[in-house]
Amino acid sequence: MRTKQFKSESKKLLDMMINSIYTHKEIFLREIISNASDALDKLYFLSLTDNSVGLKADDFEIRIELDKDNRIIKVIDNGCGMTEDELDKNLGTIAKSGSLDFKSENEKTENVDIIGQFGVGFYSAFMVSDEVTVETKAFGSEQAYRWNSTGASGYTIEPCDKESFGTAVTMHIKDDTDDEKYSEYLDQYKINSLVKKYSDYIRHPIRMEFTTKEPVEGKENEYKDVTEIRTLNSMIPLWKKGKTEIKDEEYNNFYKEKFYDYEDPAKVIHTSTEGQATYHALMFIPKHAPFDYYTKEYEKGLQLYSKGVLIMDKCADLLPDYFSFVKGLVDSEDLSLNISREMLQHDGQLKLIAKTIEKKIKSELEKMLKNEREAYEEFFKAFGIQLKFGVYNGYGMNKDVLKDLLLFTSSVDKKFVTLKEYTERMKEGQDTVYYACGETVEKIEMLPQCDAVKDKGFEILYLTENVDEFAIKMLMDYDGKKFVNVCDEDLNLDSEEEKKALESENEQSKDMFEEMKKALGESVNAVRFTGKLKNHPVCLTSEGGISLEMEKTLNSMPGANEKVKAQLVLEINAEHPVAEKLKTLYKDDKETLNKYAKLLYAEACLIGGRSVEDPVEHSRLICELMTK
Ligand code: ADP
Repeated sequence: MRTKQFKSESKKLLDMMINSIYTHKEIFLREIISNASDALDKLYFLSLTDNSVGLKADDFEIRIELDKDNRIIKVIDNGCGMTEDELDKNLGTIAKSGSLDFKSENEKTENVDIIGQFGVGFYSAFMVSDEVTVETKAFGSEQAYRWNSTGASGYTIEPCDKESFGTAVTMHIKDDTDDEKYSEYLDQYKINSLVKKYSDYIRHPIRMEFTTKEPVEGKENEYKDVTEIRTLNSMIPLWKKGKTEIKDEEYNNFYKEKFYDYEDPAKVIHTSTEGQATYHALMFIPKHAPFDYYTKEYEKGLQLYSKGVLIMDKCADLLPDYFSFVKGLVDSEDLSLNISREMLQHDGQLKLIAKTIEKKIKSELEKMLKNEREAYEEFFKAFGIQLKFGVYNGYGMNKDVLKDLLLFTSSVDKKFVTLKEYTERMKEGQDTVYYACGETVEKIEMLPQCDAVKDKGFEILYLTENVDEFAIKMLMDYDGKKFVNVCDEDLNLDSEEEKKALESENEQSKDMFEEMKKALGESVNAVRFTGKLKNHPVCLTSEGGISLEMEKTLNSMPGANEKVKAQLVLEINAEHPVAEKLKTLYKDDKETLNKYAKLLYAEACLIGGRSVEDPVEHSRLICELMTK
């Protein structure tokens, strides 16, 4: 018998398998089972038109046999089998050009996980075996053949005896090493769990003899081995069943089991599409964010199946970042089992699927917002931040997709309001959307600047998350209505007359403000009177694009070496008795005026949620005042 050499391409792939340091060697079983399943499919389709096949739909099966003592796993199918020629062609040359190209390209970038993420086919058996034998008899042929290889040295093919058509793949499992316990693949429970994990939805039964110990009747502490044939896979994927056939409980259990959650999902999205992109998708929106959701460790993605076989556990390309909280899977007939991750990224079909999935998720969220407000608000509490980041990221590229999914706390009832609701109930004469920022709703409520806006009967959006104002700035306007921070310097609330009066007041006290500004140094850009405060004597506003809240957020970011500074204006209530006092001091006692400027600035900082720059001086000034 002549030993044949593998074709050079195949040899490369084989070498990779044999020397693989890849940790997910377990996927070899998925590959061998998928091949068997394909062979069953082929014969099954033939049987539909050819009576001589002699098998009914139920007769097609995959058998796994374990022989621990001889370190052997056998995977047997009664599928189409291979002729001598096919055996030589299929297992001697493997046209995995896709994954090979990918490998060579990525050899530069180290440690690419090519094996785990997509099929590498038959040769993966060599990750766990030191010898592989394939005995096969093609349907309709008399002679069976045996293919055998111990790896890179080549392979042999010889005639052999085999009763019925189909294929048996015999893998001799490698000896254990310090790092790898290959023996675990000889354990029935391990094999059972691998089938469940990777091949549960193969549509043919995968059967294996299971041995368990049972107590011997009437004899204490005596056990006997009981063996039975078990079907390891559930065969019918939930997502391929009709929606009406599935109970909520089934969805919920499936979700919890598969995606490791202790709570039922907030929403189940089950959809099938045919046409341009043919796929089934079963997706879930969790009720709560996973513990690592807002960390770098969190990996987004949907499971990707090709014809019921898992080919990728977390296909990131299927979900945009702003919907990264969605869990679930997509099963498509259009994708090849052996497609590489590199190729997937450029796969038009996958992009099409991703697009329709994104639309579906969005429309489900909109429906939820419309019909299940309470549930949506709970959802938003868990994942709203992600949506707001979505608005902000990519220079606002996706803001139109997301803007109607956002919720903000309203000053009217402290409940959530959408931007649409806000603009729809805007008062006559109101042409801007007001918002205010702070750590908590309570703190924002105390901002003196809010009073003037509320006094006019205008609603304010209370923004409490760091990302909020950045998202708002990215949106710029909603439905043509500009967003305005109540702490911006010019709110434009006053009438023309009021504005004029204030202007002349400011003009008259120009020198006094100059004096005060000098006392405050770099802290403020200007000091002036305002008409917008009701009871409070002072407030801080910002001119230019950066608000106090944004300053805080930007400066707290890692790597923010150069501190950003908001351009601040100390505004003094022109109607407050303090205003008169200041004017008198400017005439009589400049030294005290300077001290009061500092006190008022500190007061404004505290009310605005900032810390006092020099607390020691502040306390000294207060004590001085108290003991006067
Ligand atoms: P792929 O399945 O992606 O084509 P593989 O390396 O897994 O690549 O297998 C190569 C070929 O060998 C298959 O395409 C198939 O024609 C043949 N083959 C493998 N296993 C079987 C089997 N159990 N029965 C029949 N043919 C098989």
